[in-house]
Amino acid sequence: IINIEHLKKSFGQNEVLKDIDLMVDKGEVVTIIGSSGSGKSTLLRCINLLEKPNGGKIYYKDENVLAPNYNLPKYRTHLGMVFQQFNLFNNMNVLENCMTGQVTVLKKSREEAKKTALENLKKVGMERFIDAKPSQLSGGQKQRVAIGRALSMDPDVMLFDEPTSALDPEMVGEVLKTMKDLAHTGLTMIIVTHEMAFAKDVSDRVIFMDKGVIAETGTAEDIFVHPKEERTRQFLQRIL
Ligand code: ATP
Ligand code: MG
Repeated sequence: IINIEHLKKSFGQNEVLKDIDLMVDKGEVVTIIGSSGSGKSTLLRCINLLEKPNGGKIYYKDENVLAPNYNLPKYRTHLGMVFQQFNLFNNMNVLENCMTGQVTVLKKSREEAKKTALENLKKVGMERFIDAKPSQLSGGQKQRVAIGRALSMDPDVMLFDEPTSALDPEMVGEVLKTMKDLAHTGLTMIIVTHEMAFAKDVSDRVIFMDKGVIAETGTAEDIFVHPKEERTRQFLQRIL
């Protein structure tokens, strides 16, 4: 569903992504691991074009999204993104948070938007909180609303950038559980995470990034049990 070829991104002299090739199939759950500064967030931000790549190609359903006439606003609606910081609209309640994009961007009626929002809030276990404002929620609850909001746009691919890193330890489990349930629904997911047990558990494929390259890729078993590359072994040793 997404095919990346020879992707490059620099910030000034700093070459952050060097010749990244990555193909993600529909329904696949891909996790990206690697040290701080290895380029994981930049890769996700290039995929949804929050950052403009300096070279290479990104294909979405076989269409080059970097082509001059490509419909980028439409492309972005196919990608859901969940960040470390929840980025909820603090002046809106939970239900409105999950409705607003559907109404303004997808031009749905409020009635339809509400129905979809409620379905997705149910999926993330937040349907009892529809009237709450973000300030009344715990971090884990906010992140589950953020996931529900992204799902309400009916994306083809969900991108997660360390969705549990900003949470108190006791909140991490509920968010990982929510993501695990989603992974089992056949949704295509690309997840940057430091939660290795989770990565082991849900990944169809694990990607280990090091200094702007994909150093190793394989199944969870390949990467966590039989890593081939010395730098993968060193990374895992440092964090496990
Ligand atoms: P972490 O695990 O800490 O989140 P990461 O793997 O996500 O790390 P990136 O955030 O992609 O790493 O950053 C990779 C490199 O790119 C870093 O050296 C960072 O300083 C640099 N970088 C990222 N965004 C920008 C930017 N907007 N402007 C300049 N440099 C940037
Ligand atoms: Mg990052």
